[in-house]
Amino acid sequence: MVALPGTPLGGKPTSAPRSRFPTPQSVDRLHKPFKCPGSATRTVATDRPARKRRKVDYGGADGDADADKPYTNADRLALANRDVNRFPVFKAKDKHLVFRKAFSIPLVNKDSAAYNPNRPPPTLGLRQGAVFIAKPLHDPSGEFAIVLHDPTIDDKPKEKPPTEDKKEAEAETKVDAPLMHKSLAEILGIKKKVQGEHPRVPVVIDPRLAKVLRPHQIEGVKFMYRCVTGMVDEKANGCIMADEMGLGKTLQCITLLWTLLKQSPDAGKPTIQKAIVACPATLVGNWANELTKWLGADATTPFAIDPRKTPKEEITRQIRQWAIATGRSITRPVLIVSYETLRSYVEELKNTQIGLMLCDEGHRLKNEDSQTFGALNNLNVTRRVILSGTPVQNDLTEYFALINFANPALLGNRLEFRKRFELPIIRGRDANASDADRKRGDECLAELIAVVNKFIIRRANNILSKYLPVKYEHVVFCNLAPFQLDLYNYFIKTPHIQALLRGKGSQPLKAIGMLKKLCNHPDLLDLAADLPGCQQFWPEDYVPKDARGRDRDIKPWYSGKMQVLDRMLARIHAETNDKIVLISNYTSTLDLFDRLCRSRGYGSLRLDGTMNSAKRQKLVDKFNDPNGSEFVFLLSSKAGGCGINLVGANRLVLFDPDWNPAMDQQALARVWRDGQKKDCFVYRFIATGTIEEKIFQRQSHKQSLSSCVVDSAEDVERHFSLDSLRELFQYRADTRSDTHDTFKCKRCRPDGKQHIKAQAMLYGDTSTWNHFVNDALNGIQDHLLKQECGGDEVSAVFQYISH
Ligand SMILES: [Zn+2]
Repeated sequence: MVALPGTPLGGKPTSAPRSRFPTPQSVDRLHKPFKCPGSATRTVATDRPARKRRKVDYGGADGDADADKPYTNADRLALANRDVNRFPVFKAKDKHLVFRKAFSIPLVNKDSAAYNPNRPPPTLGLRQGAVFIAKPLHDPSGEFAIVLHDPTIDDKPKEKPPTEDKKEAEAETKVDAPLMHKSLAEILGIKKKVQGEHPRVPVVIDPRLAKVLRPHQIEGVKFMYRCVTGMVDEKANGCIMADEMGLGKTLQCITLLWTLLKQSPDAGKPTIQKAIVACPATLVGNWANELTKWLGADATTPFAIDPRKTPKEEITRQIRQWAIATGRSITRPVLIVSYETLRSYVEELKNTQIGLMLCDEGHRLKNEDSQTFGALNNLNVTRRVILSGTPVQNDLTEYFALINFANPALLGNRLEFRKRFELPIIRGRDANASDADRKRGDECLAELIAVVNKFIIRRANNILSKYLPVKYEHVVFCNLAPFQLDLYNYFIKTPHIQALLRGKGSQPLKAIGMLKKLCNHPDLLDLAADLPGCQQFWPEDYVPKDARGRDRDIKPWYSGKMQVLDRMLARIHAETNDKIVLISNYTSTLDLFDRLCRSRGYGSLRLDGTMNSAKRQKLVDKFNDPNGSEFVFLLSSKAGGCGINLVGANRLVLFDPDWNPAMDQQALARVWRDGQKKDCFVYRFIATGTIEEKIFQRQSHKQSLSSCVVDSAEDVERHFSLDSLRELFQYRADTRSDTHDTFKCKRCRPDGKQHIKAQAMLYGDTSTWNHFVNDALNGIQDHLLKQECGGDEVSAVFQYISH
C-alpha cells in the first residue's frame, strides 16, 4: 500500500495536520480578546444550573431544542446524586438584620460549664486558659511515694497573714484614691488574686528514684532536703553529707538535686533553676553517667565540662550561655565541673543565681585560705551540700571551714568561732588543764556538737549489712621471713638511722619508705645500693637484681606476707571460683604480684594510676564479668576514683597499710558494696612488730580522733608525741602482735587464746574484734587462714564479722 501525501498511515482523517503556518482557526484565535483559561473551561458547577433547568422541564414550554437531547450518563449520575449533593450552603444573611444584632464571639463549646456569657469574652484566636488544678508533681499516696515536704505538717503558720489583712483593709478604705496606674481589671475589681495561683502541695520524690532508694538513703535525702530548704534553721541552707563509702552518697544527692529542680511546695514551681556539681576532674564523667543512670537518658542533659575534649573558647562560650539562661531557656540545668575549671570561670558565673551547689570530695574545702575555697565562696549560691567520705579531721580549724562553707554565718566568723569554741576546747584537752578548764572545754564541745550535728549526716557503712552478704574482715599479722628480718634489723641499726633517731639526720621519710618496702619484699629495694654492707645476710639463692638476667621469678620465701599470699592464691585457684583483688601502695609491689601470677599461671588484670578512665572502666568490666578467666585484679591504692567497683571479686587483700585511714577504707570498699552477691573476705596484711603495726595503730588512733566531733567519742587519746619517730624505727621481735599488746586485752588469756567474745564488735575499734593467735586458727571460719595454723608466718589475726 502506498501512502498518499496528506493522509497518515492507517487512513484515519485528522482534524488539523501540523503545519508551520497558522491555520485559519489559529489566526481567528489571535484576534479574540484574551480570556483567563480557568473561566473558559466548563466545570461541573457551571453545568448544574443547566441540568436543573432540564429537570424542571421547561423544555416543552419554550420549544428548547435541548429538551429533545437524550440524557448523557453524566447527566443521569448527577440526577441520581442530586439530593446527596445538597451540602449546607452558606447563605448570605440579610445585611440589615445581621448588622443590627449584637456581636458574639464564635466559641466552639459555648454551652460548656466553663463559659460565662456575662464575663468579658476571651481575645479572639487565643485558647481559653486551662483550669489550673493545684496538684503535686507525683502522687503523694502512690506505691513508692516518699514525701519530703507535706504542707499540712511542715508549713509553719507564719506571722505574715495578719499584716497582709491589714494592707487589704487599708486598700479598701482607699476607694477614693486616684485611679492612676491601674489596669482596667483592677479598677473593675475583677483582677484575680495572685495569692491563690500557687497553692501549697506536697513535694514527693520522683517514683523512679524512690523505688531504688534504700531506707537509709531516703533518710539521707530527707535530711538534706530539710537542711537546704531552711526547715532545720532558717539561717542555714547547707549541710554536709559525710556517709562512709559505699552508702550511695551520689544517688542521694542526685535525688535531692532532681527534686529541687522539679518541685517545690508551691505547685508547679521548681525550687531551683540551676545547679553546679563541683568535683575532682576525674569524677566529672562519672557524675554525668550517674545522672543518666538513675534518671534515665530523657530526664536531663547534664552539662559536663571536659577541658581535654573541648577547646577553651567553646567552654567559655557555653558557660556564658549557661550563666545568662533563665526560665525555659535553661536546657542543661546541671553544670558538672572540676574544681580547677570552676575556679577559672568564677568571673563568668558570678552574677548568675545558682540554686544548689554540690561539692564532691568536699574535704578539699577544709582550708579556708585556699584558692578554691575563696573562688567558690564568690559564687552566688543559695544552697550548698558538701559530700565527703572523710570530712572531719581532728583539726577544729578545718572543721570550722567546712561548716562555714556549707552554712556561712552559722558559727560566726573565724575569730568569733575561735573565741567561742576552739580556744576553750583546746584548753580543756591540754594534758595540764585544770578541772574548770576541762569542764568548760567539754561544755563548749557539747555546744558545738549540738549546733553542728543538725547539719551533718554520717552513717557508717555497717548499716549496709542488711542488704549485703556477710563480710569477714581480717587483720593478718605476718612474721617477717628470716632474710627480711636480718635486713630489717640491719637497717634500723645503720649509723644513718641512729643519727636520725638522735635528731641529727635528715630524710626520715625516705627511711620510712624503705622500711615499708622491706616489709613487703626485699626485692622492692636495690639492696646493694640502699643497704650497703648487707651482703653478709644474703641467702645462697639470692641473686642481686641487676644480675638476674632473664630469670625474673619472684621468691616468695623472702617475705612472710608474700608466702601467705602465695598460699592463699593457690588455695582459691584450686578450690573455688572466687576472684580476688590485691591492693598495694607501691606499683613495684604490683610488679611482684604480676610476676607471681605469671609464674603460677594465674590470669591477672592490673590497674594503676597511669590508666585513663575509659580504659579503667573496660578493665573493671572485664574483671567483673563472671565468665572472665582472670581471677586476680591488681590495683594500686593510689589509682583512686570512686568508679572502681569490683564486686566481681569477693576477696580482697590490702597488702600494706597507708598512713591515711581513708585511703585504706576506700580500697576496702571496692568489693563489699552494692551488687555483691557472695560473702566477702577481706585481709589486711601487717608485718608483725614492724613499722606497719605502728602505721596501723596510728590509723585507728587517727580514726578515733577524727570521730571526736562527729561521733562524739569521748576518750580521745592524745596525739603521738614527737619521739614517735624513735618508736617507728623499733622492731619488736618478741610479740605476736604489738597492736594486741597495746590493747591490754582482758578477753584473751596469756597464751593468746580469746576466751570471752566482745559484747559488740565495733568496726572502728579492733580491740573489740575476735582475736586469734596462730594455734587458735583452726577455729576460724575462713579456710584460707585456717590453713596457716601451725605455720610460721601468721602470728595473729583480728577478725571482724559484719553481721
Ligand atoms: Zn585479745
